[in-house]
Amino acid sequence: MNKNNKMNTNERHSILQVPFNGLTMDDTLQVLLNFIKTDVNHLVVTPNPEAVMLAQRDKTFLQVLQSADLVLPDGIGILLAARWLKLNIPCRVPGCDITMALLDAAKGHSCYLLGAAPGIAEMARRNLQNKNIIVLGAKDGYFDEDMGITIMNEIKELKPDILIVGMGMPKQEIWALKHLHTLPCKITLCVGGSIDIMAGNIKRAPKIMRRLGLEWLFRLITQPSRAKRMPDLPKFVFKVMKVSKHMFT
Ligand code: UDP
Repeated sequence: MNKNNKMNTNERHSILQVPFNGLTMDDTLQVLLNFIKTDVNHLVVTPNPEAVMLAQRDKTFLQVLQSADLVLPDGIGILLAARWLKLNIPCRVPGCDITMALLDAAKGHSCYLLGAAPGIAEMARRNLQNKNIIVLGAKDGYFDEDMGITIMNEIKELKPDILIVGMGMPKQEIWALKHLHTLPCKITLCVGGSIDIMAGNIKRAPKIMRRLGLEWLFRLITQPSRAKRMPDLPKFVFKVMKVSKHMFT
């Protein structure tokens, strides 16, 4: 963690070895705005229960999550697990919400979008530019090795303050950590399908569903391909309950 931060963002709460920060949305935004003032690139990840379960099977992914500068709880399941384990995680900090809050609050700063299907990042770029957000570049997340080098060179040349990576887990996190210190950005945010949402390609759940913690259900209905991840949810609950039994008996 960068020493320039006055706020103690080092306080972590472990859920199945994934060290979550227990920050409110406002505090998270403050930490990100502090990151932007530094000369170092900071990795920010937003794991949900499916990511925590993937990290149990994929140790490289677990190590990436453990080495991130900020680990933000995305998904109601993380919050419920925190309550169960009596951890001080006050609220969800969904990747899409915190990305938009950051882009709004840091309007003089620039960003670069990397991810989603061909054409989508460009759509997101236009939508953000209509809100006076500076977007220096936009590339899809389906590139080969040669294109990867071209993209790296472009990012190095453009020097965006914020790099938004939406290539799905664990690809986005592994890619982001691998290149973290060669890219001249201040924040690298791994945010899954957020570029689709910024583009208007995928709709957010209605507010009432979000408030009730049912965003996952909305996404399941609108993107049935996510159903293959569902078996991980009961496994997550079971594992968390097992840990809590060891902790509290
Ligand atoms: N994606 C990508 N490159 C890939 C695989 C996926 O850019 O090689 C994009 C995909 O088009 C979608 C996003 O990554 O925009 C995945 O969104 P999802 O919400 O599934 O993210 P996750 O929950 O896996 O982090």
